[in-house]
Amino acid sequence: MEDREFSLCNVCSKRQSEENVIRVVSTRQCFICRGMLLRLPNVERRIVNLMGRYEFETFSVGMVVPAEVQEREDQLRSELKIRGMETIKSQIARDIIASLESKTRKKLDRKNPDLTVLVDMGQGGLLVTTKSLFLSARYTKPSGVSQKIELCQNCSGRGCDKCRSGRHDRPSIEEILGKKLGNVVGSSKAKFTWIGSEDEESVVYPPGRPFIVEVKNPRRRHVPSRFRVTTGKGMAEVTAVRLLKERPATIPSFVFKTRVFIEPVERLDRLDTSIIRRITRTTIRYRNNKGKDVAKRVYSIRVKKVGKLAAVEIKLDGGLPVKRFISGESVSPSLSEVLGIQLECKKFDILRVWESVPP
Ligand SMILES: [Zn+2]
Ligand SMILES: [Zn+2]
Repeated sequence: MEDREFSLCNVCSKRQSEENVIRVVSTRQCFICRGMLLRLPNVERRIVNLMGRYEFETFSVGMVVPAEVQEREDQLRSELKIRGMETIKSQIARDIIASLESKTRKKLDRKNPDLTVLVDMGQGGLLVTTKSLFLSARYTKPSGVSQKIELCQNCSGRGCDKCRSGRHDRPSIEEILGKKLGNVVGSSKAKFTWIGSEDEESVVYPPGRPFIVEVKNPRRRHVPSRFRVTTGKGMAEVTAVRLLKERPATIPSFVFKTRVFIEPVERLDRLDTSIIRRITRTTIRYRNNKGKDVAKRVYSIRVKKVGKLAAVEIKLDGGLPVKRFISGESVSPSLSEVLGIQLECKKFDILRVWESVPP
C-alpha cells in the first residue's frame, strides 16, 4: 500500500514526525484541525477577560476538543505509524496555559487550583468554577432570630401564596449570613455546619457560637475577620473569621455555658450544694433524636439573679439538650428528677462555647 499524503497546517504538521508524507497547507485546509486552531488567540483573549472577574492565585485548564478532530489525528498517526507524539488536545491546553500564565501572572496548579476554566474548543464555550472557601467563625445573635432557615409550614418549602419563597418569614442567621457572605465573596451558595444550636428566643452572647461555612464557587477569596449584620431584631455579629485550608475532616465537640430561666422559680432554693454535687458527678444519659442513647456530663450549676429574675447557669457538654435536661424528657438524671418537682425551661441563652479542638 502506498503512503497517503496528508495536508496539514504548520502547527499540526510540527506535532507529527513524517515530513515526507505531509504537505503543509493553510490552517483552514488542515486535515486534522480544519481551521480550529485559528480560533485559539480569540479563545485565549476571552478566557483572560473572564478570569479578570475572579480573585485567584492558581488555576487549571480543562479541555474539550471535538472527537472527530482527535480521531483524524489518530487515523493519520496509525497510517503513518507515528507514536509517542503530543496530541492536538494537549498541545492546545499547553498553549492556553502558557498564554494565561504570561497574561494573568497567575500560577498553574493542576491538583488544587483556586480557579478552573473548562474550554470547549468545538462550541467555543467557557465555564469557570472556583474552589469552595471554607471559613470558621463565631456568631452572636439577639432573641427572635432562628439559627437555621425554617421552611414554610404551609408548603414545606415548595413555595405557596402565603410565603412565596418556601421559607418561614422569620429572620435566621443562616439566611442573613448566607446573603452577607454571598455579597462579600460573590457567591450564591453557602452551606453551614453549626457547632451546636439554640432556640429562636435564645440570645447568643459574645464570643459567640462557632460554626463552619462552605461558600461555593466564590468570585473573591477574602473575607473580613469580623463584621456585623442587622437582623430586624437587633445586630448579629460575626467574629474570629478564619480561612481554612480545606474542608474540615471532623466537626469539633464542645462544652458550653448556658443561662436558663426556669419555672417555678421559687423551687430553685432546693438546689443546694449536695444536689449540685450529685449531678456534676453523675453521667447524664439521654436519647437523641435518632433514638440513640448518649452519655454526657454537666460540669457546674449556679443559681444567679439576673435583674429581677432567677436564672441557673449551667456548664455542660455540647449536644445535651438544655430544655430536656431541665424538664426530664428522655434525660436522666434531670434537674426535675433530682429536685423531685416538674420544672420547665422558659428560655435559655448561650453565654460561652468552648470547642474541644478548633477546626
Ligand atoms: Zn491544523
Ligand atoms: Zn409556603
